[in-house]
Amino acid sequence: MNMAALPLFDPPLRTQLLIDGTWCRGATGQRLEVIDPSTETAIAEVETAGAADVERAVQAATRAFATWRNTSGPRRAALLHAIARGVEARRDRLAALQSLNNGKPLAEAEIDIGDVVATFDYYAGLAAQLDAARETEIELPGADFRAWIRCEPAGVAALIVPWNFPMVTTAWKLAPALAAGCTVVLKPSEITPLPELELAAIATQAGLPPGVLNVLTGTGAEVGAPLAAHPRIAKVSFTGSTAVGVQVMKAAADTIKGVGLELGGKSSIVVFDDADLELAADLIVGGGFFNAGQMCSATSRVLVQRPIADRLLALLARRAEAIVVGNPFTPGVTMGPISNRAQYDRVIRAIAEGQASGARLVAGGDVPARPGYFLRPTIFSDVPAGSALWQEEIFGPVLCVRAFDSEAEAVAAANDTRYGLVASVVTRDAARADRAAAALEAGVVWINAPQVIFPQASWGGYKQSSLGRELGPFGLAAYQEIKQVVRPS
Ligand code: NAD
Repeated sequence: MNMAALPLFDPPLRTQLLIDGTWCRGATGQRLEVIDPSTETAIAEVETAGAADVERAVQAATRAFATWRNTSGPRRAALLHAIARGVEARRDRLAALQSLNNGKPLAEAEIDIGDVVATFDYYAGLAAQLDAARETEIELPGADFRAWIRCEPAGVAALIVPWNFPMVTTAWKLAPALAAGCTVVLKPSEITPLPELELAAIATQAGLPPGVLNVLTGTGAEVGAPLAAHPRIAKVSFTGSTAVGVQVMKAAADTIKGVGLELGGKSSIVVFDDADLELAADLIVGGGFFNAGQMCSATSRVLVQRPIADRLLALLARRAEAIVVGNPFTPGVTMGPISNRAQYDRVIRAIAEGQASGARLVAGGDVPARPGYFLRPTIFSDVPAGSALWQEEIFGPVLCVRAFDSEAEAVAAANDTRYGLVASVVTRDAARADRAAAALEAGVVWINAPQVIFPQASWGGYKQSSLGRELGPFGLAAYQEIKQVVRPS
């Protein structure tokens, strides 16, 4: 365990399941080791939940729903604000926990905490207005009837999340679900369960009633799959790989439950020949190497207009070499390890396949000989359009670069993927930026901007990247049912 982080973990970390307001052992009697990816050593052991725990948690959430759905908007808002304040009060401990469990540098973990706070505060604001906005009268063609639309909480929501932004992904689901009046069974990633358990402790201390939030740590097969199939779950909101998203959707089909999916990406950043090259290089490095490239929104495909390609590549190589890879708690470190062994092996394989594919290695590519899942920021140029390197999500610090000649060619190349999560455009020509933004098949387009995400806006993508949208009013609507009420005038 990282010695620098130790004093922050007093009181000790939460490692048990949270069911019906009580911290408890799992029915399987088994535990999962949680690994620090910087040292490959165990930090903690958490419970492995099984079928009996899933049942108990769903029942607890079902009982709690009867009261929580009728709890006033202002009361729900007050609890969400209280969770935000609890997160703020434990900012240092939570950031250290993110870094320790996920491997991200402390500065990045602190950004995550800010995002979590902003998300709970934003949905507290929506919850506060919810009672007034619950019923909307509909204008009808005749005078015989009156009709209303009522927005009601959907029921018990299962939230299944990955390991790359543990608390953030959870906040984007948990805050709107609670605001809408849903109760929750949360399944954190088995790789990074510690931040979510801490968040759950904060939520209970904030006064969330028993059963409103239940947390089951464990595997996808033993916890995620039964939740997705459970007849009492009204809505399953999943963030993770596209392959597992397909399984979740199939499992949910038998009971026709609501499904929200946030899946993989293979997104492009398009740099036109009039771009500010220093800005472009900064945006590319941010979009490719933040969180060691383990971002669904990574703009890992760089499309650069031919006349500036060599100059941009030189800037990128210099910036990649300046990135300091190391332990997330060491001052000056700007990139931590890959978060887990399986992903580390996948990225190493992708780099080896890239080298064999005929692409030109511009930076990195080597595996540092040290304990921990560390990789160097890696850049390939002249990447063949049909190669796995160009088409498949790598989810690691690997940028792929191709040159283009025309705007139409750039847009077509960016859209040539089964994914469509985000895209970036770098140009000084506002009209060209607007044309590209309209033509790109992506749920978010950043123009000359870093990957800023606002809880007030929207999150999600086109094609196989998403089903539905998170954040903003869309995020709340995802946890609501629409009811029409009609009566004679
Ligand atoms: P994953 O799909 O392997 O696992 C995600 C979660 O699903 C985990 O909690 C896992 O235990 C659970 N799970 C596994 N099998 C399951 C099953 N059969 N039924 C139900 N749940 C199951 O993904 P990961 O490796 O944890 O995360 C990386 C992926 O997540 C990447 O593809 C990335 O692009 C994607 N992601 C997307 C977004 C987004 O907003 N679109 C955000 C973050 C990550």
